[in-house]
Amino acid sequence: MFKPKLSHTLQAELRETLEQGGCPLCRLTARAEESFLDSLTYERILDLGTRAELKRSRGMCLRHARAWREVHGSALGIALVYEVTIKDLLHDTELELESPLKFWETRPTPVQLAEGLEPLALCPACQRGADTAARFANVLLQDIQKESVRTALEQAGGLCLPHLRLALTIRGSVEAKRLLLEVERRAWAALRIELQEFIRKNDYRFRDEPQGSERDSWLRALDALVGLNLDRDA
Ligand SMILES: [Zn+2]
Ligand SMILES: [Zn+2]
Repeated sequence: MFKPKLSHTLQAELRETLEQGGCPLCRLTARAEESFLDSLTYERILDLGTRAELKRSRGMCLRHARAWREVHGSALGIALVYEVTIKDLLHDTELELESPLKFWETRPTPVQLAEGLEPLALCPACQRGADTAARFANVLLQDIQKESVRTALEQAGGLCLPHLRLALTIRGSVEAKRLLLEVERRAWAALRIELQEFIRKNDYRFRDEPQGSERDSWLRALDALVGLNLDRDA
């Protein structure tokens, strides 16, 4: 069960993450997802709550399935979870296969069957990440009143677009959201200038000019729109 930390602990964690650059919510989310996967020990897998969660989500999403595979000692846990998942698939596709002619004439139709095979819940690692992002977006909306936090966020390059949209959607004061959007627009404007500079220096007439901070602006632009690629940093 998640034990709420004191708000000032969360504030300190957010500020420390801001200093690392890039969307802080992406970093905090990735950290939460990673520690959840690390916690999926054999004992944890036997926990009924965890098993029920993984059953509803039909295992992990693609990204977290791959990450879980890399966790040391995860083989038996994965086998236990997926034995149940595959048993469920067999159960949920149990059809009358004896008469091929009538096969799809009866219900469920293939489309209904496909719908029934959809996971009923978000991948549990994704869920931990989403909870963490919402919690820290809330802290950020409280903290954004401070100029030092606004400066740090601007220097970090602002939030990525998905996390900005999250922060604008959750409960929080309109004034805090206005301040956040102001920071975000300044960060976008600065990034745009760097992109223009990068494009200019790629022109053969200016090729000899040394590259400055704009050299990786194209990567930061990708991060700004879809979120940090933390695998790249690893
Ligand atoms: Zn983000
Ligand atoms: Zn996931």
